[in-house]
Amino acid sequence: MKSLYLHFPFCETKCHYCDFYSIGREKTREGDASQFERAMMSEIKAYGDRGVFTDPFETLFLGGGTPSMTPPDSMGRIFSTLFIYNRLAPDYEWTMEANPSSISLDQFRAYREIGLNRVSMGVQSLRNDHLSKLGRVHDEGQALRAFETLFEAGFTNVSTDLLCGVPGQSVDDLREHMERLTQFPIQHLSIYLLTLAPHHKMYKDLPDENEQLRHLLFIDEFMRERGFDHYEISNFAKPGKQARHNLVYWTGGSYLGLGPSAHSYDAQKRARSKNVSSLHKYADLLAANKQAVEWTESLTDEQIDLEKWMLAVRLEKGFPRDWLRTPRQQNKAQILVREKLLESHDKIPGNLRATPRGFALSDAIVKELASS
Ligand code: SF4
Repeated sequence: MKSLYLHFPFCETKCHYCDFYSIGREKTREGDASQFERAMMSEIKAYGDRGVFTDPFETLFLGGGTPSMTPPDSMGRIFSTLFIYNRLAPDYEWTMEANPSSISLDQFRAYREIGLNRVSMGVQSLRNDHLSKLGRVHDEGQALRAFETLFEAGFTNVSTDLLCGVPGQSVDDLREHMERLTQFPIQHLSIYLLTLAPHHKMYKDLPDENEQLRHLLFIDEFMRERGFDHYEISNFAKPGKQARHNLVYWTGGSYLGLGPSAHSYDAQKRARSKNVSSLHKYADLLAANKQAVEWTESLTDEQIDLEKWMLAVRLEKGFPRDWLRTPRQQNKAQILVREKLLESHDKIPGNLRATPRGFALSDAIVKELASS
């Protein structure tokens, strides 16, 4: 396993729209943080003792939750345990997700000393009314100060997340947010369309599909003009600054996930697994020397084929034309090209890729090509 994901389950509060496994401060009990640290170290030891960590780590990703709520000394103990078993590759990428509400200069200097070299900061919006509607605890001022802190701490590879399709959000709001964020030397931007369950109180206020498409096409144009490659459906990067860890996910590579609710994928065995989504179950299982895995599944040929298409359509490099094996697939692809959802790749001869509009309608493309 050259790629490792570690899930840190604590957050300041639980945001209204969030589906990730995380626990807000109000639901955290005393001792939870140290219980988590012990359990994570036990899980690392269990995999290390089984000889799972052989090749040096090329990518590490600390997600959650809000990993930046974990103090550097606790982080240091967790990674000292990991580095008993393995080392980092010379050109490793080690990312931490952070939130503007949990950032200080000393803390981020200390993370850099441990070895972190990339930060992904969840800004989501720079409008205070939208932030509070989404249940975020930070405000615009904190978000902008957080960037200053990160750069002052010496990070040069910084990514940020924004949401589009937020009820009440306009293209002008997005333009203003992106203009302000790209004034910092950020190298990467992820923009996700807000999705909510039908029972969510804001569901009826979500913009319609045409407005969502307007948001997505505007973002594509704006970011390209500023020298970012739209290399994945929701991700933009300066040349050479693509998120390498996420590319492992998007190209069907293997990764191991540690921590409650973390997913793993073994490409050789074509097997996926997930840890239990409960801090206390996770800790109890590891304390009893058991695995924290909740389920494992072997992927069928159909699942592999569907995933292959889903992943290829979301990447800018697209897929080779010779994947279109049946006359039906070839015919469908021709129609998608005529509809300007697919196009020939200008730099990779023989590849087809989604156009910016195709990115926004990728589910429809996958449905046409994978089920043939
Ligand atoms: S900060 Fe992130 S992980 Fe935590 S609740 Fe909000 S969206 Fe979810």
